[in-house]
Amino acid sequence: MKVTRIAYSTGLNAGKFAALREQARRLGRVRSEAWQRYGATFGVGSGLTDRKVRDQWLADGTHVRFGVLANPWKETLRDAMADIAANLAAAKVEVRRAIHRRTEDPVERKRMLHALKADRWADDPFVSRQMRKHWKRGRNHTHDQIVVRADAYNAVDDGRGRLWLAVPGLQRRQMVRIPLSTTVAPTGTLRLILRGGRVEVHYQIDAAHLPSSRRPCGDRTIGVDKGYTEALTDSDGDRHGCGLGKLLTTESDRVKERNRRRAKLRSVANNAALRGDHAKARRIMVNNLGTIKRDRQAARHRARVRTEVFAAVHRVVDKAVAVVAEDLTKSFAGRRVLGKNIIRRLAGWTKGVTAEALKNVSERRGSVLVHVNAAYTSQTCHRCAGFGRRSGDRFHCTRCRVVWQADVNAAINILQRAGDPDIALHTSHHVVRQILRDRTDRHRTRLPVQDSSPAVAERRANNPNRSTMSHQ
Ligand SMILES: [Zn+2]
Repeated sequence: MKVTRIAYSTGLNAGKFAALREQARRLGRVRSEAWQRYGATFGVGSGLTDRKVRDQWLADGTHVRFGVLANPWKETLRDAMADIAANLAAAKVEVRRAIHRRTEDPVERKRMLHALKADRWADDPFVSRQMRKHWKRGRNHTHDQIVVRADAYNAVDDGRGRLWLAVPGLQRRQMVRIPLSTTVAPTGTLRLILRGGRVEVHYQIDAAHLPSSRRPCGDRTIGVDKGYTEALTDSDGDRHGCGLGKLLTTESDRVKERNRRRAKLRSVANNAALRGDHAKARRIMVNNLGTIKRDRQAARHRARVRTEVFAAVHRVVDKAVAVVAEDLTKSFAGRRVLGKNIIRRLAGWTKGVTAEALKNVSERRGSVLVHVNAAYTSQTCHRCAGFGRRSGDRFHCTRCRVVWQADVNAAINILQRAGDPDIALHTSHHVVRQILRDRTDRHRTRLPVQDSSPAVAERRANNPNRSTMSHQ
């Protein structure tokens, strides 16, 4: 398992930056060419490798047009082909979900899933319709990156707290030396991202080397519910990552205020331009409406949120060998337009970070992440399964009249779903609703009430078969 580290250039001179940017621009054309030719073919899924494309380009002379050295375009091509494959794989995830919703028949499901996996979705009308819906023809948007292979660069510590990273330029044997604000040498393949006059050096290290990966996991099964004021609430009632809400509201307020100021300045600039004072307009655009500071602040905010969320997940894994959670990647395809509402946009992004942290930390520390169907887990009472309503952070059960902490109630419901005999991961929303209604009806006719305390839920989640038998 790998984690990404980023080193930043410091005091890089403008000439070097411009040279790197020109190289990245030319490599952007390599990416565009790859997307244009192979971005929407069936080939990528079924064995069209970057090596085959490379040989083809070398044979037909495509590579000459780019005006870059051989190694950089080959690495870039490899990277672009991997992006294309990832784009296709992401579409297939959506289509797999659609197939599960479409039919309960195992034979039919298997047939469709197989057609999808083998890239023969054209054979089936439903699967091909779904692929057309989810697999949008992609386009290259990356024109500011250079991929450098491990054997193509070197790094030298100057003994004064700076590391000089030398990477290939546009000419043979002409390295560009970049001063970094660190003495820790990057390793493996590098991805240089040129943003705001600065070079970001992204590289991956083996997570096994991180101290946190050696922390043992716990021995219990814990359900978690993601929140906004805190990253996670667990089925014991403990909250983790309590600084998250503050981080999100502060950032949202800051962004709103900044946008307001920028809008005002933009109108001043526009008015100046209308009056014919173009010098003033340009001055405002350059000095007050730049994007460098804005982008760096955004990056800092993202780093803080990640730290908070990862720390929260670590605390859950401290006591859990199995973490039961909603699949947070679901409905987070990144395509849904969240509009101008800043806090919702930030929260949406945070949800993705939480999903990543749950997966990443579980894998590194040897716990299991169990995804469950979370439909109605925040709208039903964990004790009597009745529907209720939420007001603020309270949940009022309209059946048994008990009031719970809303997110603790949801976390316990999520934990119970892991041992639920009827509600599977892909059971559709309305079927879940019907099952829950039937259960409360059964309660009404005085069938034995299940003991739904968290401790029992934990046992049941650990051993679903036995628990379903003993309660029927
Ligand atoms: Zn109740």
